[in-house]
Amino acid sequence: MDPVLALTQELIRCPSVTPDDAGCQQIIANRLKSVGFKCEHLRFGVVDNLWATYGNDGPLFVFAGHTDVVPPGDLKAWHTPPFDPIISDGMLFGRGAGEMKSGLAAMIVAVETFLKNHPAPNIRIGFLITSDEEGDAQDGTKRVIDTLVARGVTMDYCIVGEPSSSNILGDTIRIGRRGSLSGILTVQGIQGHVAYPHLADNPIHRLSHAVSALTNKTWDHGNDAFPPTSFQISNIHAGDGIENVIPGTAEARFNFRFSTASSEASLKARTEEIISQHIDNYRINWRLSGNPFLSKRGNLIEAATSAIQKISGITPELSTGGGTSDGRFIAPNCPEILELGGMNTSIHQINEHTRVSDLTKLADMYCYILNNLMV
Ligand SMILES: [Zn+2]
Repeated sequence: MDPVLALTQELIRCPSVTPDDAGCQQIIANRLKSVGFKCEHLRFGVVDNLWATYGNDGPLFVFAGHTDVVPPGDLKAWHTPPFDPIISDGMLFGRGAGEMKSGLAAMIVAVETFLKNHPAPNIRIGFLITSDEEGDAQDGTKRVIDTLVARGVTMDYCIVGEPSSSNILGDTIRIGRRGSLSGILTVQGIQGHVAYPHLADNPIHRLSHAVSALTNKTWDHGNDAFPPTSFQISNIHAGDGIENVIPGTAEARFNFRFSTASSEASLKARTEEIISQHIDNYRINWRLSGNPFLSKRGNLIEAATSAIQKISGITPELSTGGGTSDGRFIAPNCPEILELGGMNTSIHQINEHTRVSDLTKLADMYCYILNNLMV
């Protein structure tokens, strides 16, 4: 039995719907301990985290990932039960098959193989695994990084095993991610009767002018690594359905996906500047879920690129697209970081699956990268 397949199936059988780890990290810790890792379980709130380390010399290389999965959704719509890892037509089905239990299994088998060949490597290896990446992510990787920083632990290289590939294994690696800044804009008006607008102050009208100005704004032009910052309104709410009442308040929810050409502070300042041109009485609740990050070009990207060329025969696209990841918490403490993993074509979907033939290939890629990072 392909060891990566076997371990992936074992992990899929654990119904680890976020933030419940459902025993995955104990399985992983047992494997790592048996090849000489020191394992530490860090539980914060209801979130389980595993920090495991091997070796004493050399740069620190870390594999990062998560054991939690999103809920399966409508069970009747699944061909096979979501926590029953069934193989059909060369595909492994199950919640987490793509994101990211196959990635975790490939990392562990890669390290087992690497240490068999190099029991005393001149690099240190770490694993940072959380059971809350899919949820609010406040007690997961973020808290582990805070703990490590407090101990003075710094990382040199990190591979986040998120599924980065679209068509062929390794066709895309993420070398950074845009930042994500959200806001809830509440406009305070004066409620009144639609027939007497002069006695009211319609917040919807004021909001619509501000929305038009915000959506027509060019926030930046991006740069070599990132597309221009995007601004999207996701929700607008006002009134409660009564047609002859001007509501007292109106609310809009929006999100920036921003490049390194802008910052949280500059976006907030310019947003407020625009809104103040149209609205006197408003407030904004801001929430930064992550700053943009971009890996330094160095040994790691080089090692990953040559591993993919060797094993998949293609040269990967170096991308900063897509949403956010736990890389945002790791990047401030690790100069070289990238995301490399399996297919992302069915993640979060009903009948999630991954290609069985990719599993060992992914482990080989990870192992090849470790070999290449040895100094
Ligand atoms: Zn993920």
